[in-house]
Amino acid sequence: MIGIELDWSAIVARSLGGQGFTREEARAILALPDDEIPLLLAAAFAVRKAHFGKRVKVCILQNARSGLCPEDCHYCSQSSVSEAKIDKYPLMSAEQLVDGARRAAAGGARRYCMVTSGRGPADEEIEHFCGVTRAIKQELPDLEICVCLGLLSEEQARRLKAAGVGWVNHNLNSSERFYSEFCTTHTYQDRVETVRNVRKAGLMTCSGGIVGMGETDEDILDLAFACRELGMDSIPVNFLHPIPGTPMEAHQFLTPMKCLKVLCLFRLLNPSSEIRAAGGREVNLRSLQPLALYAANSIFVEGYLTTPGQQGEEARRMIEDLGFEVEPAGRGG
Ligand code: SF4
Repeated sequence: MIGIELDWSAIVARSLGGQGFTREEARAILALPDDEIPLLLAAAFAVRKAHFGKRVKVCILQNARSGLCPEDCHYCSQSSVSEAKIDKYPLMSAEQLVDGARRAAAGGARRYCMVTSGRGPADEEIEHFCGVTRAIKQELPDLEICVCLGLLSEEQARRLKAAGVGWVNHNLNSSERFYSEFCTTHTYQDRVETVRNVRKAGLMTCSGGIVGMGETDEDILDLAFACRELGMDSIPVNFLHPIPGTPMEAHQFLTPMKCLKVLCLFRLLNPSSEIRAAGGREVNLRSLQPLALYAANSIFVEGYLTTPGQQGEEARRMIEDLGFEVEPAGRGG
């Protein structure tokens, strides 16, 4: 089935040395028999520990505008083709968003991520987030600010950076080959272009994907290697949470073990990037969630855009029970 035997110490050495490894080796990691997972976790942990120690960065999401999106991403409860019963509301006010930042910092978050539904921001929306970011930075200078506003031009990204935004999230989501099977209103290349614009503007890139949408292992490999080639600074690995009312509501392709293999693959291929066990970790990793931290150095707490998630206190206990530590929160200086 696999055809090659994995030499774990060589894989760790090459990962740490930045040489990466072959697609054949990466393929073998995704096809690994479950009883070899402890070896894979040990390899991923060696690389994670070298770059991030046992620290876990806690991030909190704020859905700054919910639903009403003209795009048709099939996994998303906010899309034009979703009938999911979700809260829908227009862009939050500056006060609401700054308040959200205060709550995130008080709840132990190091990073606050403001997300809007939609194809991309109008100029006045960029101005809105610039103002919000300046206000947050004045009060909470250590809180890392990430925004996820859809497709961005380089000029828009530059304005966000000048206001104090540090990261822009824009996920590639999957392989270029698979992209049109779950979204037809924009392309994989549109997303790559936004990532490049963010990088050109001097912002940190936060971009990963979603597994469990019916893609093949080859698609997951394409995504993992694309993240490596594009030098993503931060990589959220989402696991599809099939939401009733979305076109993917019946998708049940993942197992907890598969999720761990995917996280380890992303860690070993992207040794110094932040790897985040992101949306859907609770429902897909289930009781194996703590093991994700051997590969990932970051998690979201307090829920996702339209779904609930693990609460902060419970996440803190999980991290400490494992002998890991929460990165200091982004409170004011
Ligand atoms: S993922 Fe973003 S762009 Fe796609 S439908 Fe959802 S909110 Fe719209």
